[in-house]
Amino acid sequence: MLFGVVLVILAGLYQLSRAREFQLFGELVARVETEAQVVALTFDDGPTIGHTQGVIDMLAALDVVATFYINGAPASEATAQVRALAEAGHELGNHAWHHDRMVLISPDRVRREIENTDAVIRAAGYGGPLTFRPPYGKKLVVLPWVLAQMGRTTVMWDVEPESGVADDAGGREIADYVIASAKPGSIILLHVMHENSGASRAAVPMIVEGMRARGFAFVTVNEMLALAPQSDH
Ligand SMILES: [Zn+2]
Repeated sequence: MLFGVVLVILAGLYQLSRAREFQLFGELVARVETEAQVVALTFDDGPTIGHTQGVIDMLAALDVVATFYINGAPASEATAQVRALAEAGHELGNHAWHHDRMVLISPDRVRREIENTDAVIRAAGYGGPLTFRPPYGKKLVVLPWVLAQMGRTTVMWDVEPESGVADDAGGREIADYVIASAKPGSIILLHVMHENSGASRAAVPMIVEGMRARGFAFVTVNEMLALAPQSDH
């Protein structure tokens, strides 16, 4: 009996930890409520020395600005790449220091990971707003509580094409998934920094072309947040 109750509670906590649109404390955004025909492209992980410049060049050719949620540890090894992202006009966000699930860790460690990652991003010359995205989208009690204490907004996503298509899907399928599912205010999650992210990199120009054909423009996360209706609190 007790065991059953514990299992139910654990299952509930697990669901809560991965909920895209709910957390216990602090502000969390998965999509912005707007009628404006805009979407935000967000790229998680890295930066990597091998793929950052290629992604910057691709976005420049497309005349698109994006938001990059980067990890402090690789960023500290790739400061030239962080600087290049900032200089190209992209928005940078904090994706924690290590790419670990931040579920069962102390408040002190959570705070340290976030602050150290901020410091690396600032040291590379980025002066813009810094929202936070948890690794794997995982959060439970401690992480949201620390973020609320720090006054940080947690940014999730509502369009996740890499999970919506087969593992061996190509760029065309990834792009079609996005073009079919994105709506005004959508936040699109892609991974383009890894060696094996070729399909997602290939999808980007097709996503841009397809969404523009639907009448959409691309904005950064903070440009999108500025469109949100003002809340009362
Ligand atoms: Zn990640």
